[in-house]
Amino acid sequence: MATKRSRRDSDEDEPVSKIKPSSNKGHWMLGLVKTMENPEMIVEEDDLCVMIKDAYPKACHHYLVLPRSEISSLKSLNRTHVSLLENMLTVGQTYVDKLKAKDPSLTFRLGYHGVPSMTRLHMHVISQDFDSPCLKNKKHWNSFNTEFFIDASTVIQMLKKNGQVIVDKGHYEELLKLPLKCHVCGCGLSNMPKLKSHILSHK
Ligand code: AMP
Ligand code: ZN
Repeated sequence: MATKRSRRDSDEDEPVSKIKPSSNKGHWMLGLVKTMENPEMIVEEDDLCVMIKDAYPKACHHYLVLPRSEISSLKSLNRTHVSLLENMLTVGQTYVDKLKAKDPSLTFRLGYHGVPSMTRLHMHVISQDFDSPCLKNKKHWNSFNTEFFIDASTVIQMLKKNGQVIVDKGHYEELLKLPLKCHVCGCGLSNMPKLKSHILSHK
């Protein structure tokens, strides 16, 4: 029996940006591909990939880097994709470097969700403040602050070593249920409002 995929953003009402991420026509899982066609959402691009604004940013700075070629997810990758992933990382890192030149206090992680909710491979580029009204629930938090978030450099290493990225879906989905923990000091918090006010103390 086919298992239904959940959308971690189904509880989102409106994108934070006033600019519409894409037309609402079509299946929501294809939303990123539509957004790639919207010039107002594109921040960087080259021959191989496009970097877009995340329509429901979970931090002050949150972008997605997608290949132009139709690669659906980590599962579709093989050794021939190493240079593409390196290129995507370079595009993301170059943009991060520009942002950090303006504000050296910013810190970022660049990586992939073990089990993504949207189709077309996408690398998250996200600042570590997690200061956003779109960051609402435990799944959002744990998707960026447990092993569910796999650094881009780790994915590239896996691909070079094993020729594939193996994702144990059951294991990764369990990670989303872990208790909430601050990503800076490691202390446990009982709910999202407490976590969100706690992380502001690290600013
Ligand atoms: P993932 O869980 O890795 O599939 O993350 C998908 C990301 O896409 C989330 O961070 C969402 O906020 C973001 N997102 C959802 N729909 C859109 C859209 N139409 N355009 C741009 N970003 C989107
Ligand atoms: Zn803390």
